Amino acid sequence: MSNQQEQKVAIVTGGGSGLGKAMAKKFSSNGITTIIVGRQIEKLQAAKDELGENCFAMVCDVTNLGSIPAFVDGIVQKFGRIDILVNNAGINQKKEFTEVTDEEFQNVLTTNLTSVFVMSREVVKQMLKQGSGSIINISSMAAQYGLPKVIAYSASKTAIDGLTRAMAVELSPKGIRVNAIAPGFIYSDMTAKALDSDPERKAKVFGRTPMGIMGQPEDIGDAALFLASDAAKYITGVVLPVDGGNSIGF
Ligand code: NDP
Repeated sequence: MSNQQEQKVAIVTGGGSGLGKAMAKKFSSNGITTIIVGRQIEKLQAAKDELGENCFAMVCDVTNLGSIPAFVDGIVQKFGRIDILVNNAGINQKKEFTEVTDEEFQNVLTTNLTSVFVMSREVVKQMLKQGSGSIINISSMAAQYGLPKVIAYSASKTAIDGLTRAMAVELSPKGIRVNAIAPGFIYSDMTAKALDSDPERKAKVFGRTPMGIMGQPEDIGDAALFLASDAAKYITGVVLPVDGGNSIGF
């Protein structure tokens, strides 16, 4: 893109690490002004240094729901528009069903679900003024089938799929497409270590993944770049598994 005015602007929550960073990297290296959001400035700054001049780091704890309207206003003041929102920030908790406290359950729901609603609501106010926008929510295999010991996470991600469809039917007539990506088992130091330490789970994962390998963070980046782009201009309301076939595996 030739000048700053024409450059698209994206927000990626949780863009300082993992899948969020991989999506932010795809966006910024394709000329999209990309604002990465998280709680820890050092982590964001390190990612920004890696991603280069199209990347901007901004601190916001998305569970601080009351702060989100002013945060989004600040982005509009500074960057002029918002074309893409990726609701990626998320937490997980692995614990026996009966051991999960009310507070722990609520904390996962607030981070993974309520903040997605509030952030989207505020960003949509700006997208409606523009008459266009693309929102991508990050779901999970935990919304495709039952996984043990992740009760709050499963509830939050299943709700994300419903939220995605409800937003899509209401907002698509106004030019805003809303989709979700459901990542399968994606390689990171943490996921690799977790599977290596639990051979039974590892066998289960690969046993039902037709492609027989884990995904790479860039695979999620490619899917996000596609869904955000005009190449996906007739796609709304889908939950796209990027999972090597895991969700349909036997
Ligand atoms: P990471 O832990 O690497 O990334 C999560 C990011 O979210 C961090 O950068 C963190 O930054 C940010 N974050 C967490 N809480 C908050 C908060 N309250 N406010 C602002 N930012 C926050 O995890 P992944 O990259 O693995 O996960 C990213 C998303 O992908 C999640 O929604 C996850 O559920 C989903 N997912 C991941 C899969 C995988 O295989 N990795 C599979 C399926 C889904 P900071 O700590 O600075 O706040």
